[in-house]
This record gives sequence, C-alpha cells and structure tokens, in this order.
Amino acid sequence: MTSHSSGDPFIAITQVQKAYEIGGEKIVIFSDLNLEIASGEFVAIMGPSGSGKSTLLNMLSGIDKPDAGGLRIGGSRLDQMGESARAGWRAHHMGIVFQFYNLLPMLNAAENVELPLLLKPINAKERRLRVSKVLGLVGLEGREQQYPKLMSGGQQQRVGIARAIVSNPPLLLCDEPTGDLDRKSADEVLSMLQFLNKELGKTIVMVTHDPQAAHCAQRTLHLDKGNFVEERGAAE
Ligand code: ADP
Ligand code: MG
Repeated sequence: MTSHSSGDPFIAITQVQKAYEIGGEKIVIFSDLNLEIASGEFVAIMGPSGSGKSTLLNMLSGIDKPDAGGLRIGGSRLDQMGESARAGWRAHHMGIVFQFYNLLPMLNAAENVELPLLLKPINAKERRLRVSKVLGLVGLEGREQQYPKLMSGGQQQRVGIARAIVSNPPLLLCDEPTGDLDRKSADEVLSMLQFLNKELGKTIVMVTHDPQAAHCAQRTLHLDKGNFVEERGAAE
C-alpha cells in the first residue's frame, strides 16, 4: 500500500468501507480502502466512471462518511463525527473546486468569493480586503463587480478557486476542475493550482480524467475495483 512520508500523514484513510443500498440491493464501493497523503502533497485521482472518485471526495469533504474504517484529516477524526460536526469542520478546513464552478449567477465575483466568510466572525471591511486579495491572487483584480455569465469558463473557475481559498484552508479538493475548459484555460487553472500547492503549501486532492492535469500533480492514483493503483510518483 501507498505510504508516502515519514511521520504522521495529513490524510489517513484506513480500511474504509462504503456501500450504497439501491432498492434493497447493497452495492459495495470500497471494502478496504487505504491511503495516506502527506501535508503539502498534490495528488491526482483517476479512474473509470463509477469507480468511487466522487464518493471518496465526499468522504474527504465530510459530506459523506465511511460505513466503517478510519478517516483522519489533520487532527480531526471525521469517521467519528456526526453530520453537524462534519458540516462545522468543513467550513474551516477545506475548499472545494467544482467542474461546473457552482457560482451563484445573481452574485458578482466578489460576492461569490465572500460567501464562505459570511459563516465566520469577520467584519465587512476585513471580508472585502480578503476577497480583493484572493481575487488578485487568481489574476482577477478589478473584476470584483463582474457577474459570472459575463466571464469565460476559465475566469469563472478562477473565481471558484478564489472562493475555495478565501478562508485559507490547508486542503483543496478539486472535482474535475478542468473538465469544462478548453486547453488554454485548463492550463491556466492547473498553473494556479500548482502555485497554490508550491507557494502556499496547500494540500491538493484532484479528481480528473485529463492526463495533462494529472501530470501537474506529484502523484497519480488510479482507482479501480475499489482500490488504488499508483501510477506515478511512487516512493522515490
Ligand atoms: P465516480 O465519481 O468515480 O464516477 P461515484 O463515487 O460517483 O463514482 O459512484 C460510485 C458508485 O456508487 C456508482 O455505481 C454510483 O452509481 C454509486 N453511487 C454513488 N452515490 C450514490 C448514492 N448516493 N446512492 C446510491 N448509489 C450511489
Ligand atoms: Mg464522479
């Protein structure tokens, strides 16, 4: 099994089981899933449709939980938390980047990015400062007032990335972040993710079908039949 670093890994998935029940029939997605990810790693996850990639991301983001087994991120035992504890945890510990950006069309770029901060005890002036700073970081300075529908896909995804990092979480989860983009915009988004990983030390877990996207990561794992096969970046 994959172990990547000495010391405590940032993410530890141990003997995780997950099944869904559909019409009384149990469908096992994972029967013994194990994975360790070090702090500051950029990991790509590939695998055929239905192999459990979204299920995995949902468990990492606390939206869903394992049926059995261990799931720890940083100092938090997600496997032992109830739904509301996980929801609270989620607001502080990670950002999520979606394939179709998930921006709210009636809010401008700055308002979209500000959303996660509204859950926190931060005043309006400080919120505006943080929003401007992250929009600058993703190359969208001066576009605060622009609405998503007037932006290109690449720009919208950069707003999505700004929203994901505005609370300064250590972990970024990306679900096909370039899946809806042309090559040039995809490459810009990938450079941005690499920058966030290298310069700001974000740990990134990215599900992707795009081999070029996977190539930007330090490690690529292939999910198949409920387990990981490491393709690249194995213990150097
Ligand atoms: P991937 O993202 O790799 O395509 P998913 O994690 O979405 O795979 O799904 C894995 C399997 O679990 C699929 O067969 C899917 O139909 C099933 N599945 C996913 N979510 C649910 C759910 N909420 N209820 C029932 N079955 C589900
Ligand atoms: Mg999926």
